[in-house]
Amino acid sequence: MSRDPKVGLEKDCSDPEISPAEKSSGARKTRLNFVVERECRETNARAAKFHTLHGEVETPVFMPVGTQATVKGQTVDTLKTAGTRILLANTYHLMLRPGPEVFKRLGGIHRFMNWDGPVLTDSGGFQIFSLRHSREINEEGARFQSYVDGKPYLLSPESSIEMQQAIGSDIMMALDQCVVASASFAQAEAAVELTHRWAERSLRARGDSPQALFGIVQGACHRDLRKRSAEFLRELPFDGLAIGGLAVGETQRERYELTALVTEQLPKTLPRYLMGVGTPLDMLEGVHRGVDMFDCIIPSQLAQRGVAFTSHGKLRLRRSAYKFSEERIDARCDCRTCRQYSRAYVHHLVKSDEFLGWHLLGLHNMSFYHRLMREIRESILRDDFLSYYETQRLELTRTDQDNPHRPPKKARTVQHSRLGDYEIHKSPHGFFSIRQISSGEVMHSVNAPSDEANKLYVEQSCLPARLLEQKTLADELVIWDVGLGAASNAMAAIYCFEKCCVEEGENTLRPLRLVSFEWDLDPLALAAKHASRFPHLRHRAPFKILQDGRWQHESSLLQWELLQGDFRGLIDSAPVPDLIFYDPFSAKTNDALWTGEIFARLFERCLTKSAELYTYSASTAVRVALLSAGFFVAAGVGTGPKSDTTIAFTRANGAKDHPLSPRLLGQEWLIRWRRSDAKFPTALANKARANFENLIESHRQFTDDPRKLC
Ligand SMILES: [Zn+2]
Repeated sequence: MSRDPKVGLEKDCSDPEISPAEKSSGARKTRLNFVVERECRETNARAAKFHTLHGEVETPVFMPVGTQATVKGQTVDTLKTAGTRILLANTYHLMLRPGPEVFKRLGGIHRFMNWDGPVLTDSGGFQIFSLRHSREINEEGARFQSYVDGKPYLLSPESSIEMQQAIGSDIMMALDQCVVASASFAQAEAAVELTHRWAERSLRARGDSPQALFGIVQGACHRDLRKRSAEFLRELPFDGLAIGGLAVGETQRERYELTALVTEQLPKTLPRYLMGVGTPLDMLEGVHRGVDMFDCIIPSQLAQRGVAFTSHGKLRLRRSAYKFSEERIDARCDCRTCRQYSRAYVHHLVKSDEFLGWHLLGLHNMSFYHRLMREIRESILRDDFLSYYETQRLELTRTDQDNPHRPPKKARTVQHSRLGDYEIHKSPHGFFSIRQISSGEVMHSVNAPSDEANKLYVEQSCLPARLLEQKTLADELVIWDVGLGAASNAMAAIYCFEKCCVEEGENTLRPLRLVSFEWDLDPLALAAKHASRFPHLRHRAPFKILQDGRWQHESSLLQWELLQGDFRGLIDSAPVPDLIFYDPFSAKTNDALWTGEIFARLFERCLTKSAELYTYSASTAVRVALLSAGFFVAAGVGTGPKSDTTIAFTRANGAKDHPLSPRLLGQEWLIRWRRSDAKFPTALANKARANFENLIESHRQFTDDPRKLC
């Protein structure tokens, strides 16, 4: 079954050099003979096919990721039964181990891993981007140290092509420079320019090799740059073009918009590949916007966590709802897992951490992905894509609708649900929170605690992107979690860290130090006693915090510590924060933590850094207190019925440099403040009012040229 790729390499090929005559993408002859079979009339979806040195590929297509010349947990036979036609392998990892010599001597990756279908190799650009240690990028390429043996390496456009030629892939990728989604225009522009020069060098380095080569469009979230990059690359004699630098911290909406923007600019005559993006929904949306090829580690990664994709959304097989279930994982699936095993068996394997569970779920998920792509393709071919899309976009977002998460039916007796001044509160929407009995105040009353924690603190502070920022080991990210409560915010940060760890590898992560402040541990102790009602607490960390006041992630990259006592007395005991999740009880219950004085002390403590404070309150009194302390104040995202929250920055350019560019409060807010009942802090003496008014009116946020600030 294994064919020596060198046989393929001797095929005739044309276009060794970039000639002006070639610079018309429409008429260009490429190595893939890409043919569009049908285009959707209502969307940009299309069905196409192309020929590689190892056979034909029909698109839209999903390519499983075989980082180390293996798709984790699968053999080439199981991949084939799942429907895999083309694999992705990773130049960076294979260069470090086993190294080019092994591929040269053993006849390339096809023979090495016993795979006779097409292989696409990435260039290593994305891994270089993710490297935190000893990486230096200049015109020549990227210098770094091997994580295998510490040896210095240079990954240049030429050495990347050389390695991809040793691997013998059918499709090579040009080396690119990827930057975070939050990169400034100047940073992103420099990376785009470098990527373009590297693209030309890659084409020259490919020479007359019959291997196809794709260029990669970069530009972070800047539309102008994305357009410019696509316009430049489409004029070069590539055999296909890819959209890189997505799934690195941008929002889903940005991802969809940028994908559409770029595919509009790409020639219809070349395959389009959206790199590293691949939930089922992302792929459906990608095809809708004109993408032909996808890759992602999600199907095998989620299989490892016990998650199955089905025709009615995702299932978490770890749940005890499946203990006795004799059903197939997906009634519509006839993969080997579904044909031969019940949900109950897979549930048991997953619960027992048996490797077979990962393998069986991986096989099913891979089959699901390939079936989805086949169905998409068929719907395009019969001119029915739009209706397929409309149905699937609903189905794909479902989660376990036959066995929804339900809180236990029988309410526990009240005395078991109380501790000190706190009790468990059940919202009308079915989730549980902690209520302070004396004040009646409910922590996270509006949305499920973990949803609110994610939306308001983790997503809004773009935590994943920050964890992937290129910093040295010493430069840890410090988060203050003010008001630990039942640890919703702290656990949201920890889950985010662990997700990044699994998805990106711990070598790529910046160390995180999480400091929680709390004077009363009863809310957490109460919630921990009823962890079945507080899913975010199903983790060792909160129990260690209750027991020892600290917890460390197994990678040692995340330290969580608790400072117990009055926050005002602890401000100087913790390292200066980068991010503050400010979530104490409201001013009605605990006014001491919402005064101008406390914010002024916070502001002073953060002077050495560009720090950001996120809080659920959008009240005029809180915002004016922050302004009076020197903060620059912006409106944050709404959560549920709250239309607004608040973000405060220590630096004037904080909002401008923020990936989401939050809107600083402007003249409109100032006008409302002038008329507000909460214009002055309640404790402020009458004679101090004029001064205070002057302080706010002359705040740089309102007096500087707004273009400079936001
Ligand atoms: Zn199946």
